[in-house]
Amino acid sequence: MGFLVFCWLIIGVVCAVIAIGKGRSGFGWFILGCIFGPLALLCSAVMSRESRQDERTLKTCPHCAEKVQLQAILCKHCHQPLEEGHPSVAKIKSSAADDWANS
Ligand SMILES: [Zn+2]
Repeated sequence: MGFLVFCWLIIGVVCAVIAIGKGRSGFGWFILGCIFGPLALLCSAVMSRESRQDERTLKTCPHCAEKVQLQAILCKHCHQPLEEGHPSVAKIKSSAADDWANS
């Protein structure tokens, strides 16, 4: 029994180390690790990987502060152009103006 508790505490510490490495709450993940054991360890590993991928593939819209794809030229949330002067943005803008003029 004592050994099992020891293992659970070790898992808690490992969860905390992973969480701190990802800039998350180390204490919170230590508690989660102590309660859920290997399940929390698995969650912390998977979540940290996804978060790192987000940082590489997403950027923050300067207009609405929502996360959008790095390659996006128009924000999917507020529909503002993310890259002024991008040829596609100019095209979208002019076609929108045409639609407005024709209606
Ligand atoms: Zn936006």
